[in-house]
Amino acid sequence: MAKVSIVKCENYEHPKVKTAILESLELIGGLEKVIKPGDNVLLKVNVIAGFLPGRAATTHPSVAGAMVEIVKEAGGIPWVGDSSGAYGFTAQSLRLSGIEKACEDFGGKLINFESTGTYPVKVNGRVLTTINVAKPVIDCDVIVSLPKMKTHMLTKYTGAVKNFYGVIPGSGKAAIHRQAPTEESLSHAVVDIYSALKPGLAVMDGIVGMEGDGATGGTPISSGVILSSADCVALDAVASEVMGFSHKDILTTCFAHERELGVGELGKIEVVGEKINDVRIEFKKASRTYYKLPAFLGKFVFKNAENMSRVEISGEDCKKCGICFESCPVCAITLEPEPFIDQKKCIKCYCCHELCRNGAVKLKTSYFGRRLLKQRNQS
Ligand code: SF4
Ligand code: SF4
Repeated sequence: MAKVSIVKCENYEHPKVKTAILESLELIGGLEKVIKPGDNVLLKVNVIAGFLPGRAATTHPSVAGAMVEIVKEAGGIPWVGDSSGAYGFTAQSLRLSGIEKACEDFGGKLINFESTGTYPVKVNGRVLTTINVAKPVIDCDVIVSLPKMKTHMLTKYTGAVKNFYGVIPGSGKAAIHRQAPTEESLSHAVVDIYSALKPGLAVMDGIVGMEGDGATGGTPISSGVILSSADCVALDAVASEVMGFSHKDILTTCFAHERELGVGELGKIEVVGEKINDVRIEFKKASRTYYKLPAFLGKFVFKNAENMSRVEISGEDCKKCGICFESCPVCAITLEPEPFIDQKKCIKCYCCHELCRNGAVKLKTSYFGRRLLKQRNQS
């Protein structure tokens, strides 16, 4: 039976975070089951874009720093790596998120996946057949997912499994978004990537999560927990329930379970430490997700959702930094003379919304869409 631990942790003070992580690891059988002395241990953080830790969009440096220490104490060699959502912005993201400093302070090897090169890896996927994976992800001995507890505009929830989207650096992410523009196809693609990796552990930063229009445009919410598991799929099932979802609504969890890549059914997971009901906090859901509507409306809305919401750039807020332009998978964005999104080209992947650090990419919902969302939120 898969095991997931939940431990309360009220803030990011280093000793508290470290104690909570150690307790959560002890509850699932201890780190020595996962790491042997001398192992190169890749801590896959989430630094999706250049946000400060207080924004709650990225793995908090306290969690990364505590894990670096814990891995060293277990005899492992900690590597800390990721790539941001847009090519060329990872170094900035590692710095602003505080992960670079955490590595300096605690002695972790910082790795920018944009500069390591990639290996082509064949996958027997539903969407993908070959992926280009950052070399350290393949070269390390143990992979550990260190996700942030967040909502997501397209996949509703993002956690331990989706965190591995970042192992594809460079233009690879945009190519996948072109191939997989819907919730269902992107969730399959995420699980395709996950199927090529063999993570040994996941430790989730759920101390302050993100609710609303995640993965970066939402609001921080004090959720006060650390979750750990050797099974990323099981961890996601439990974490999504803590956030007020039904784990059965999270397609990455369902698809990974169906493909026997982990345990995604709550009844088959042993939750140790705190009980889900005792720590559950209802996160506001992302505004584009219509899944809580009555079935007949949900179907109708899903079919028409593309016309009910759109992304636009506010000329007033835009600093013309170019990150959205660089990352748009279908080249729908122009910045000169004025920022503009070609709605005919846009596939609503929300990458621009996720990556804009200035809040200039706005989600516009039609009157009808707003009424339906109000109904959803009241149901
Ligand atoms: S919309 Fe945001 S990401 Fe795009 S150019 Fe303007 S400031 Fe940069
Ligand atoms: S304009 Fe934004 S939402 Fe539309 S396809 Fe480009 S990055 Fe995705």
